[in-house]
Amino acid sequence: MTTSILHANLKEHFGFEQFRQHQEDIIQTVLSGQDTVAIMPTGGGKSICFQLPALLLPGITIVISPLIALMKDQVDSLKANGIPACFINSTQSSEEQQFYIDALREGTIKLVYVAPESLSYLDQAFNSLQISLIAIDEAHCISAWGHDFRPAYTNLGYLKNRFRATPVLALTATADKATRADIVQQLNLINPKIVVASFDRKNLSLEVRPALDRVKQIIDFIENRPDESGIVYCLSRKTTEELAQKLQQKGIKAKAYHAGLESKLRAKTQDDFINDDCPIVCATIAFGMGIDKSNVRWVIHYNLPKNIEGYYQEIGRAGRDGLPSETLLFESYADMIQLQKFASEGLNSEVQLAKLQRMKQYADALSCRRKILLSYFGELVTENCGNCDICKNPPVFFDGTILAQKALSAITRLQENEPLTLIIDFLRGSKNASIYDKEYQNLKSYGIGADISWFDWNQYLIQLINLGYCEIAFHQKNRILLTPLARKVLFEGEKVKLTAVVKKPAPTIDFKEKAPSRASSGLFDVLRKLRYTISKEDEVPAYVIFSDATLRHMEKTRPMSEAEFLTIEGVGKAKLEKYGSEFIEAIIEFQKNKPVTPRVKKESSTYKETLALFNENLSVEEIAVRRKLGVSTVISHIAKLYSDDLLNDVSSFVNSSEVDHIREAQKELQPNAPLKSYFDYFEEEMPYSKIRMGLAVIEKEH
Ligand code: ADP
Ligand code: ZN
Repeated sequence: MTTSILHANLKEHFGFEQFRQHQEDIIQTVLSGQDTVAIMPTGGGKSICFQLPALLLPGITIVISPLIALMKDQVDSLKANGIPACFINSTQSSEEQQFYIDALREGTIKLVYVAPESLSYLDQAFNSLQISLIAIDEAHCISAWGHDFRPAYTNLGYLKNRFRATPVLALTATADKATRADIVQQLNLINPKIVVASFDRKNLSLEVRPALDRVKQIIDFIENRPDESGIVYCLSRKTTEELAQKLQQKGIKAKAYHAGLESKLRAKTQDDFINDDCPIVCATIAFGMGIDKSNVRWVIHYNLPKNIEGYYQEIGRAGRDGLPSETLLFESYADMIQLQKFASEGLNSEVQLAKLQRMKQYADALSCRRKILLSYFGELVTENCGNCDICKNPPVFFDGTILAQKALSAITRLQENEPLTLIIDFLRGSKNASIYDKEYQNLKSYGIGADISWFDWNQYLIQLINLGYCEIAFHQKNRILLTPLARKVLFEGEKVKLTAVVKKPAPTIDFKEKAPSRASSGLFDVLRKLRYTISKEDEVPAYVIFSDATLRHMEKTRPMSEAEFLTIEGVGKAKLEKYGSEFIEAIIEFQKNKPVTPRVKKESSTYKETLALFNENLSVEEIAVRRKLGVSTVISHIAKLYSDDLLNDVSSFVNSSEVDHIREAQKELQPNAPLKSYFDYFEEEMPYSKIRMGLAVIEKEH
């Protein structure tokens, strides 16, 4: 099929101008009738690879998918794009199932989603249906190697035997070779083309922080990103509940999710998340597989994940719409000890421990994190990414030889018998029971590191472990042992380079938790609210109507006619017809009323009164007295009148150099920061009235 026909269909049905990496290649292979294995990261755009062929092929496309919840959302998304689709599963009555089977036979529906357990419902119908394509989503579920093994998947091999001439497309985000081989073999694929997309998700920022005051850090993070949707992954069920509760106490809309909750509650939490009613979920890794929500703006790992595969899949749930999204991992020594224990007690412990080790190396990295991630998936990258914490703040090295000597000789004095915490106490000369009980205060080296804080010693010792000078004996109460390398430092004068300790992020000016600039004109919020309203009316998730990326594109280009609207990324024919007029109207309305919010309209007479007095040359204070209003209210009126073009000079309130200062502050502060933030920024030197007026002036310049 020609490229231009494919592109025309991509735009008409899905609203996209360009294929993402490998999509076209996969689609062409499928259309040529060849079996295909598509390996793409979460959010890479797998669905289009079978949805577009489904429209072009003569018969029907069967999509095998593991989760019923996911099917419903995919079918809703297709319908929103005007593509008839259905799913068949055990929750439906037999009449309902028959209705859909008839529709498939008649060709009014071309795409059917079915769970492997429910394939038998289609068994009879198979004989009379023309099946053009079999797509097997989450194909790694077939492999016992993988992390989501589902026994029902192992029966799927019969499909290829039964429909020899029908191409099978297997899709997965799991990249390892053993799983890949299992997929090919167990599905009986014939000479399949294997397409492996890059696992690089450039729009995801990567950051790792020490897990000190995690809860506070998380609260700060969330409070600086109001209205954004995110997931906090926790290791234990208990933590999800405790954290959700702490967030709620701060007035943050968050809920807990884990496999131990009652299934109705779980489903409700998931729905509320998908529908933007509850933007934040604190969850165990049980959460997420059945979720396609494209506007998850951040993912936090409260605990260190068990392995890089899991970690990458979890952070991959952020930013599927391709917009910049953040990921943050908290690393703690205690987590590591616990995970080591789990891994060594579980099945296949050697492999699990090795995987955990790789995870830890990632967290401790001193070079570009994305390079480490991608090399794990077999991709070699030479350039630093510029979008991870290491690239943004490269570590500063110093000569840590003396520090290392002190630490290693302390370990020697303690006969390699003590865990990290006691070594630090010993170095610092702490006078506590664990020292005195063993009379360690009498040993040489006691207190030789008293000038360094506990926190810093902790970090230096972890670095020494990572550098291989000492190691943790996990099976022996976590005592710290020296390695042969330690000798070189203690006796052979080897130099040790350490990195300066990253200070614990505190709410100080220079480490202020700041959201990356996603500056909004206000139109985005208007469009988002409209999307929410429509989603409630239509009973579909908001992202099914338009993704955040689509709304951002509208905000930027402000389409005001149908032709313009159709040029928006994510707007195809069906969505233009369904939603075009409402969104266009909202945009026109916004343009027209830009500075006038509805509240202002209602109260416009109060502004007029202020204006009349102002025009009589009364001072602000006089107007306030006359009108029995606060001075700040009168100031806000004047700013508003200026925005509304009813006043054209406010230079008596704020001069141009002050406006310049405010403009600078605006660049530093987050979008829509409250006046208080500006006031603090100027260290209380700039009065509120000037800030308010200055912002009005800047706003009008745009
Ligand atoms: P996956 O199944 O690989 O995790 P999806 O198929 O759910 O990914 O696609 C992820 C997101 O990317 C969806 O919001 C989808 O609409 C969007 N998308 C897919 N293909 C394109 C494209 N060619 N251009 C723009 N957006 C796309
Ligand atoms: Zn980087």
